[in-house]
Amino acid sequence: MLSNTRTIHNKRVLEKTATNSFMWTDPKFNKPTALLRLLNADSVPDLSPYYGKRTIASRRRVVGLLQAINRATAMLDSAVEIEPDRNYWTDAPKDLREALEEIDDILAEYPMRPTVEISGKYGDGGLHFDHANGSSRPLGEQLAVWDITTLAQKKMLERVRECMCGEWFFARRKDKTACSAICRHKTYEQSERFKVQRRQYMRNYYKLKQSGKVR
Ligand SMILES: [Zn+2]
Repeated sequence: MLSNTRTIHNKRVLEKTATNSFMWTDPKFNKPTALLRLLNADSVPDLSPYYGKRTIASRRRVVGLLQAINRATAMLDSAVEIEPDRNYWTDAPKDLREALEEIDDILAEYPMRPTVEISGKYGDGGLHFDHANGSSRPLGEQLAVWDITTLAQKKMLERVRECMCGEWFFARRKDKTACSAICRHKTYEQSERFKVQRRQYMRNYYKLKQSGKVR
């Protein structure tokens, strides 16, 4: 499925270049394009024959992997905090081992294999060797999974976040919790409203308590 036509091949080279691992160390790097495209179901009409069909199942698998890795990472972080001297490589706690097995099972669907294609429309770039998460899954999904493992390796997967509006975004700064200025403002307003409501509630609660109506 990776080699339908020559055009598709050339587009693939371009896309792989855009998502390749060297980008992650590049300070100009801005976001995991393939992953966000799949999560947000962004439409790229001219590339869809190349990426393959984007299905709900495909998206569910990718979100599942992302969440499983984030869960395992959080588990390991808190375990290390409690037991810093434990050898987690040889003797990880049971729940953590299970979490890793779950991730491994998902990853088994995306075996990596080297690929070759002709780089550039007229072959002026010669042969280009790359790799694919070769599987029966659509290429768009394979690239998204590649983004996930690359980000996780850099300890940056938790930076891929879902905004309150449902849009997934890459938080370039740690404290960024919204996809846009508008959503940031909404989140702020919501938390302010929550604080006011909570204050009100606590005031009423203490008043009731003092009156002896509740214990
Ligand atoms: Zn948003």
